[in-house]
Amino acid sequence: MIKFAIIDHEQDAQRDAASRVSTETAEKNSASLKPERKRVNVPKGATIQTSPRKPKLGQHFLADESAAPRIVDALGDISDATVLEIGPGRGAITDLLARKSRRLIAVELDRVLSAQLRMKFSMQPNVEIIEGDVLTIELDTVFGAKPGSLRTGLNFAPEPARVIGNLPYYITSDILLRLLEYHRYFSTIVLMVQKEVADRLAASPGSRDYGLLSATAQLYGRVEQLFTLPPGAFSPPPKVYSSVVRITIKPRLKSLRVSEAEFIAFLKLCFGQKRKTLWNNLKTRYDEDALRAALAKSGVKPAIRAEALPLEKTAALFRALSDGGS
Ligand code: SAM
Repeated sequence: MIKFAIIDHEQDAQRDAASRVSTETAEKNSASLKPERKRVNVPKGATIQTSPRKPKLGQHFLADESAAPRIVDALGDISDATVLEIGPGRGAITDLLARKSRRLIAVELDRVLSAQLRMKFSMQPNVEIIEGDVLTIELDTVFGAKPGSLRTGLNFAPEPARVIGNLPYYITSDILLRLLEYHRYFSTIVLMVQKEVADRLAASPGSRDYGLLSATAQLYGRVEQLFTLPPGAFSPPPKVYSSVVRITIKPRLKSLRVSEAEFIAFLKLCFGQKRKTLWNNLKTRYDEDALRAALAKSGVKPAIRAEALPLEKTAALFRALSDGGS
C-alpha cells in the first residue's frame, strides 16, 4: 500500500480542541468543590452546554444547501454510472446522488448514521448502504470481477465507478492514497478536503505547495481545485477552509515508462527530506558515481530540489538510475 503522511491542519485543530477539553475538564473538577447549584425542573436538553462537543469521526456535516448540487455536478453526468460515496453522514449529498445515479454505494462508519440511511433509502433499489470503514472494505469484492466473469470468451470490463465524498479530514491522506492505489476501478474522484491539502494536490512543480502528495496524485491523473467553502458551510464548523478537488484518473505510468511500486518508492526518496537537494536525498541510496552519471544523462542539476522537478524529469532520472535505463 502506498503510504506517507501529510501535514493535517484539521488533526492539529482536533488536538487543540482535545487539549481545550482537558483544560475544561480540569476546571470542572475544581469547580466540583463548590456547592452544587440547584436544578429546578429543567429538562436535560434545555440546559446550555458550556463545552462544545468535539465532533467524532471528522463529522462536520454540510449545512450549505447550495453547495450539495455543485459538489455532485463535479462528477459530470452520472445517469449511467456507479457512484461510491465515502462517509454519507446525514445524507447531505446522498439524496441527490440516489436520484441522479444508476447505482449508489455509500460507505459509512458510524453505526447509527448508517442504520438511519439504510432505513431512509430502503425503498430505493439503486442505493446500497454499507456500514464499514472505507480504509478496510474490500474494494476488489465491491468493484472487481465476480465469480464466472473471467470465463474465456467473456470480456470483463465494467465501466469504472466515480467516487465522491466530503471526507473526514483526520484520515484524508489514507483515503486518498487508497483510492489512488485502486485507481483501476475509478474514472473520476471528487473530494471535499481541507483547503491546504487541495492546494498541495493541485500544485504545479516549482510552486511553494508542490511536494510528494502532488507528485503522487498527479501520477494518476489530472487534479483540479474547483471551489472553496468557509467553515460556516458545515455544522459544526471545522477550524479550516475546505476545497473541492476533482481527480480525473489517467495514469501516466506507461507514458513515463516507470513501474508503479518502484517509482513511488523513488518519489518518496526524492522528497525524503524537504529542505535537502535531490543529490543529498538520493546519495543515501545510490552510489555517487552512478548518481552523477544518471543526473547528467537525464539533464537534471544535482543542486535542484525534488519540488522543482516536473514528473517527466523525475521519471527520466529514475530510468537512468534503473538497470538498463534509457
Ligand atoms: N457527507 C456528509 C456531509 O457532507 O454532510 C458527512 C461528511 S463528514 C465530513 C464525514 C463522514 O465520514 C461522517 O459521516 C463520518 O461518520 C464518516 N466517516 C468517518 N470515518 C470514516 C471511515 N473510516 N469510513 C467511512 N466513513 C467514515
